[in-house]
Amino acid sequence: MKKITYFLLMAFLTGQCVSLKQGADDGDLMEIATWTIDNGKLGKVNIIQPEKAENIIENMEETWKAINDILPKKWMRKYVKALELLTDGKDETLAGVKSMDETNKAWAFALDFADLPKGNFKEDTDFLQTLIHEFGHILTLNDSQVAPSDLKFQVDETRYLTNEGLAKTDSYINQFVQQFWYKNDLLSAWDKIQRTKNPNKKLDRLYDFYLTNKTKFHTAYAAESPEEDIAESWYFFVIQDKPTRHLEKDKKVLFFYQFDQLVAMRKEIRSSIR
Ligand SMILES: [Zn+2]
Repeated sequence: MKKITYFLLMAFLTGQCVSLKQGADDGDLMEIATWTIDNGKLGKVNIIQPEKAENIIENMEETWKAINDILPKKWMRKYVKALELLTDGKDETLAGVKSMDETNKAWAFALDFADLPKGNFKEDTDFLQTLIHEFGHILTLNDSQVAPSDLKFQVDETRYLTNEGLAKTDSYINQFVQQFWYKNDLLSAWDKIQRTKNPNKKLDRLYDFYLTNKTKFHTAYAAESPEEDIAESWYFFVIQDKPTRHLEKDKKVLFFYQFDQLVAMRKEIRSSIR
């Protein structure tokens, strides 16, 4: 059985110091409430810790609508089937998504209530980055992109093995990994780091990996895995103007322009946050 974990976006920039956080470890998170989602709308709620976030729970319908106003509606309706309100206090985890079962057809969206912006979501750059990044995981790991698999290790270079299953040949993530990870021999270097048992040593090695390949990654977080790299690159594709430089990280943004569907989604998100 595959371990189901959230792709959590952590606040990893503290002043000048950039540190990588392990995205898969959601052990410190307290669950506050969960909702089912039907056709984009909140359904049944299960309140686990009512005293923690009473006002937030009451206003969640409005909060969820504000989030859906930003992200591509058709896709949110199709894939997001649950909402979880969590917290690990302020900062650290901001939000996350996870596939709800092996099929990758239904996804849960998680929000840390302590990090929800007080004002208009559309004016909060960090929160927007979080939303667009998390949506990037749904976009690149859903059932049209990744097929269930029991494989534990990469088999060959034709199809990249994600935590969600084996990437389909023409999926965005497989094409991305072919072009930017296999070609540069990054995948084998990264794969070696994944085998490091000591978690602190692993983070150090990942950070060194980022520093050695800085022109290839938009952020330190992107160096954590191909899954994070494509989600970060997707965010920069949505938010930035078309790059005119040709560093490897710019090519990762230009990658998305070959897909009309993604260009249309970029347009939809940009017009919603204007
Ligand atoms: Zn992520």
